[in-house]
Amino acid sequence: MSRFIDKDIQEYAHQYTRSEPELLLKLIATTHELTDYPQMLTGRIEGRLLKLLVLITRPRLVVEIGMFTGYSALSMAEGLPDEGRIITCDIDPEARVIAQAAFDASPYGNKIEIKMGPALETIRRIEEPIDFSFIDADKKGYPRYYEEVLQRTRSGGLIVIDNMFLAGRVLDPQDEAAHAVAELNRTLTADERIENVLLPIRDGVQLVRKR
Ligand code: SAH
Ligand code: CA
Repeated sequence: MSRFIDKDIQEYAHQYTRSEPELLLKLIATTHELTDYPQMLTGRIEGRLLKLLVLITRPRLVVEIGMFTGYSALSMAEGLPDEGRIITCDIDPEARVIAQAAFDASPYGNKIEIKMGPALETIRRIEEPIDFSFIDADKKGYPRYYEEVLQRTRSGGLIVIDNMFLAGRVLDPQDEAAHAVAELNRTLTADERIENVLLPIRDGVQLVRKR
């Protein structure tokens, strides 16, 4: 849920966005049962947006920074072309168990490769050009994740970055995470290597296209 968008309009947008598949509805339920922060799930609207963006851009290599229980990875996997695959990463072994079970149950699960460990190390090990990425891990790491991902992104590639409002804390940053996200928003607006739009969907979604 976004705290910025009218509740009724938000429910309307949810209702008139095509439902995610049954497996993802189950994954939401499991994530609520078994984890402490189920609100980290991207959910229907952003998940369907990710799938559509993947369908439109037809990426070969998708990189996800911050897998959690696998909801966003599976949403993107649904939209991949035949040869497309996803590298995703996380540091939370409990989330990994839930994600792996969901990937095993999904017809798209074999397109997703999980790398456990700090995101920066995973990104730095990627040698092929990245076509599409979704950045959604620890917020204080955002400026570095963006820079390392951008360097590996092909011309025309898309980078989607979540929580760019940080629940409104970007307006008057008081903590490390808020400073990092606000800094990245400023960087993006001035970065000549890209074009961007900050979409006021949910907690703020930056869409970035590398020139
Ligand atoms: N994209 C997910 C939600 C991600 S929540 C979804 O839509 O469901 C953020 C995740 O980032 C958490 O699971 C957390 O464990 C992970 N994370 C935090 N710090 C990290 C780091 N340094 N490297 C990789 N993942 C990290
Ligand atoms: Ca998020």
